[in-house]
Amino acid sequence: MDEDFQEAVLNIVKQIPEGKVTTYGEIAKEITGSVRAVGQAVAKNPYPLIIPCHRVVRSNGDVGGYSLGVDKKIRLLRAEGIEIKGRKVVNFEKILFKKSQFQIKMAIREKKGEKELLRFVTDRMLGKLSTWLRILGHDTVYAAEVKSKSVEGDEDEDKALVAFAEHEARILLTRDKNLASSARKRGVQCVQIKTDDAMEQLKELLRHNININLEPVPARCSECNARIRKVEEWEEDILKDKSYVPTDMVGKWDFWVCVRCGRIYWEGGHWRNMRERLKLLK
Ligand SMILES: [Zn+2]
Repeated sequence: MDEDFQEAVLNIVKQIPEGKVTTYGEIAKEITGSVRAVGQAVAKNPYPLIIPCHRVVRSNGDVGGYSLGVDKKIRLLRAEGIEIKGRKVVNFEKILFKKSQFQIKMAIREKKGEKELLRFVTDRMLGKLSTWLRILGHDTVYAAEVKSKSVEGDEDEDKALVAFAEHEARILLTRDKNLASSARKRGVQCVQIKTDDAMEQLKELLRHNININLEPVPARCSECNARIRKVEEWEEDILKDKSYVPTDMVGKWDFWVCVRCGRIYWEGGHWRNMRERLKLLK
């Protein structure tokens, strides 16, 4: 299947608010694909609970299929306040999330040259988790960075976070129940984190199928979220300007540099230590 097509489909699925459903047909109208192709793209959703594909049903109101089983789909929909009789959604027309309500958010992503389906924004309580997610290569914006970007005069950080997540089609990670519920009402996908320890929080995300590479390779700057790239031999001079770099290891170890802020990373004891901690998650 065409990856761009699947991404386009799942980007629409991400927008369906709790308490609403849409149909394969509505999505097909928006992205000019066949209903069958949309069905296949939805069925291949790699993150069934975070990208809420259980909210996509057939155009006659029948709940349709689900990768985790139809019973589970019905249970999830009922838990979100949707009434189902037999296999049919009651008041189907009333709770239909229509094509005209979809927003095409892909333009923003393309501009940034990012091709990731799951991108995050975290609340103030989740600074450490944000650092870990970045180390693991996930595009993650931390609350403190959102505030400075938000429109001047916007004092309410919660509101700014939800608006930012909505605008960039990011998954909101939060410890705050109220924030989670106000995000969900706006159609922002959200994972409410239950624990305080960053390692436990990563475990919670593992349960949501979020890919956590237990052999991390340097991919993203933990300071600023930009990509990092390997320092080539001919440019090792840039390492000598930085006081914190162990220059005696230049030429022996691999070094990486953040393309935005210039921070240097290397595979030393720090990296090994992280790898050990991640192994404990297994
Ligand atoms: Zn950086």
